[in-house]
Amino acid sequence: MSDNNRLSIIHLDLDAFFASVEQRDNPVYRGKPLIVGGISVGKGNSNRGVVCAASYEARKYGVHAGMPIWEARQKCHEGIFIPSQMNKYLKSSKEFFQICSNYTPLIEPLSIDELFLDVSGCESLFGSSETIGRKIKERVYEELGLKVSVGISKNKFLAKIATNLGKPDGFYIIPSKDIQKILYPLPVSSLWGIGKKTEKLLKKSGIYLVEQLARMPDSILENLLGKNGKKIKLLAQGIDESPVTPPSTAKSISKETTFSTNVTENAVLIKELLIISQLVGYAARKKGYKGRTITLKIRFHNFITFNRSKTLENPTYLDDIIFKTVVELLDKVRHKKGGVRLLGIKLSNLTSGNERKQLKFLRDEEDKKDDKLEKLTRSLDKIREKHGSKAVTRASLLKIIKNNRKVPN
Ligand SMILES: [Mg+2]
Repeated sequence: MSDNNRLSIIHLDLDAFFASVEQRDNPVYRGKPLIVGGISVGKGNSNRGVVCAASYEARKYGVHAGMPIWEARQKCHEGIFIPSQMNKYLKSSKEFFQICSNYTPLIEPLSIDELFLDVSGCESLFGSSETIGRKIKERVYEELGLKVSVGISKNKFLAKIATNLGKPDGFYIIPSKDIQKILYPLPVSSLWGIGKKTEKLLKKSGIYLVEQLARMPDSILENLLGKNGKKIKLLAQGIDESPVTPPSTAKSISKETTFSTNVTENAVLIKELLIISQLVGYAARKKGYKGRTITLKIRFHNFITFNRSKTLENPTYLDDIIFKTVVELLDKVRHKKGGVRLLGIKLSNLTSGNERKQLKFLRDEEDKKDDKLEKLTRSLDKIREKHGSKAVTRASLLKIIKNNRKVPN
């Protein structure tokens, strides 16, 4: 199967989490409509506060999270109302995350009981995403006594849809060939970015189903939904390129240089950009991050500062790519008389660097080119670490400086 069709994203969501923990710990609650309330519920007799979680038995009465306690009491006379015990849930949550982290470092938590995993690159160790999903489901039940619903597909959006379709105690896979079949009949509210307000607006225009959005001309969608229209249409078509991003990800990596005297010569600026590119690239590699967005910061003698950014198709930590991008960006800044005071480069939109390619459009050729560059950069890092940071600079990059602004391919 091509990368395009790999089903390597797993979404996991513990079923009725707080209520399930309570039912696990107190046999008398099992099989009963159990309602866990917010902090202000007190000893379980108060009517203030809202429902934090309702067991599936309670949901049959129409009780759901977020509902005021008094309303839940009206709907479910037999309900057992108890206050929440956050410490207990946090402990189980931690254990749940720990089990998942055995299979990949690429974990993105969504809430206390819900997360995404990207298992691309882990299959040779643990088997297919389906095998990994089943294993985690099994372990969560055996080790924690909790049921988790699992959704698997080629991206985050579809994986979460899969989980919701399978709940409770679900295990649902959306293979590439079935995306339309599964997605199109769903209500528009299944899409990210469509809340109650937008749903109402779409209904007014006779749009109820995902299929209608998927087939709608861009111009009409844009009129209806503004700049979100395009993104929502992509989701409706099952396209979501957002990577699974671990929370520890730093926001950005940046370095800058202030010149002792204002610089007017372009070649000097470019040479400095090369040095900064190497510093940023090296820092990113050391920290294990790649970034998709590269920003050039340039401050002129009069303290007017410009930031120019470019977002790449693939995240990078390679000096060459960072350097070529900032040289391109520098070209777009019109030079001011009086010279430049400060130059800076920022790498942002970071993802964990050891992940496999998330983006689909990559051609094999590009891959190979990047791999070669990667090896070269890594060996240069070793030389620099041994002999000092300025020990080596690649000849092709020096040529860019020499030719001033000419960027070789
Ligand atoms: Mg849940």
